[in-house]
Amino acid sequence: MGLKLFNTLSRSIQEFAPLDSAGKKVGMYCCGPTVYDFAHIGNWRTFVFGDLVRRYLEFKGFAVTHVMNITDVEDKIIKRVRETKTSLRKFTGKYETAFFEDLKTLNCLSPHQTPRATEHIPEIISLIEKLIQRGVAYQAADGSVYFSIEKYRGCGCNYGQLLKLNFDEMRAGERVKSDEYAKESVADFALWKARAPEDGDIFWPSPFGEGRPGWHIECSAMSMNALGETFDLHLGGEDLIFPHHEDEIAQSEGATGKPFVKHWLHGAHLLVEGKKMSKSLGNFFTLRDLLAKGFTGREIRYLLLTAHYRETFNFTMDGLAGAKTALARIDECLGKLRGIAGRDALPRVQADQQVGPANLVANFTAAMDDDLNISAGWAAVFDWVREMNKRIAENLLSASEAVSALAAWGKINSVLGLSEQTNGVLMNFSMGDPASDWLGDPEVIKLVLERADAKKAKDFKRADAIRGELKAKGWLIEDTPKGAKLKKI
Ligand code: AMP
Ligand code: ZN
Repeated sequence: MGLKLFNTLSRSIQEFAPLDSAGKKVGMYCCGPTVYDFAHIGNWRTFVFGDLVRRYLEFKGFAVTHVMNITDVEDKIIKRVRETKTSLRKFTGKYETAFFEDLKTLNCLSPHQTPRATEHIPEIISLIEKLIQRGVAYQAADGSVYFSIEKYRGCGCNYGQLLKLNFDEMRAGERVKSDEYAKESVADFALWKARAPEDGDIFWPSPFGEGRPGWHIECSAMSMNALGETFDLHLGGEDLIFPHHEDEIAQSEGATGKPFVKHWLHGAHLLVEGKKMSKSLGNFFTLRDLLAKGFTGREIRYLLLTAHYRETFNFTMDGLAGAKTALARIDECLGKLRGIAGRDALPRVQADQQVGPANLVANFTAAMDDDLNISAGWAAVFDWVREMNKRIAENLLSASEAVSALAAWGKINSVLGLSEQTNGVLMNFSMGDPASDWLGDPEVIKLVLERADAKKAKDFKRADAIRGELKAKGWLIEDTPKGAKLKKI
């Protein structure tokens, strides 16, 4: 069955079909962090959502190129650099490093490319030049270059593709230099901001004079540079629909004359205890604040993944405590399955054999194909846990069935990314990673689990012998600080 996703562009649920004629390659761009502070838990909801989309596409067999930009020059950053009297690179470097650490804590896969805006100034300038040549951008008396919405619309282009705008009721024709503005004041927006005294030494030379790029043009330039003039998927939080994404479309289509993005996905916002997060309300949390309270990245990831991406999510401390309990239930079941899997000789089983009426992989896939219906996905997981526990309690589960069950879990977990580690075996991989193929071979799983038990019992002779057996089957086993990992020879 095919994957269906809600496309903000068509405001409807559509079959996901990549532009690639072979139906395999997918280009995906997620608007990344503005590195002026530690990312908060709302930001993390959106980034974990992006990770889920990538993991699920890989699970479905697509070859994804995942690009996430780093916004390292814009209005808020410049203000902070001025206040803290540091250099731009030193200031943004600190938060960029923290961002990548947090990404790991939440077990998000690293994007394949993470371009920085400050390293794409030439691409940004050439995009602006194209827009000027095409007559949809102009340099104003203040020295800044603006995008002309009127000229763009005059060429028959549509401004307001993501958000329906009623131009008759709006004050059009004004100009905004700020990167963020309300739709009521739809106005020409800045592509290049002329150097101002308050920018300090943050400026670059350009054919339009010294200055710096606007935020919106950064994403148009970096996404097209990495993925081409037309690509498959663009993601971000719902607050980015207007003006950021609408302006990205106008700049990109205005320059190339081609459609910019096929599918737009937007994640709904996160509230904390029912309220919009704000420092003054005391309900503002960075990931680090929650870790300091004793919660783990895994628990936070689980909680962020419990709600459907198009629903506003109410984040609560009770919810986090609940995440601990839910994960313990899964871990307990997996622990028992591993115990049974290592118990007796392994009869041959079908690689894709599923255990019991709760067909985990099929049910989970059916749920996720339906616009990433994660609630139904979790229902499939917990139905399966219940079924497994029942069969274990009744002593009705054979070792081979336990191995198949673990293989099924491994596949699902390549999407969920709950890096549980029991018995020293790392059951955490991406389906895009060929190393996860071993999950399809129950005999290999059995050997890996047996080796972990042998190591635990300090039976290194047996552990080494198993390493040899795995090698003969074409697998190299490596011990990493996170657990054992397999590599295809
Ligand atoms: P920023 O670092 O401000 O550019 O934001 C990074 C991402 O976080 C963007 O995709 C925003 O849409 C998203 N975001 C910001 N606030 C929230 C929130 N409260 N809930 C969910 N996503 C958010
Ligand atoms: Zn962006």
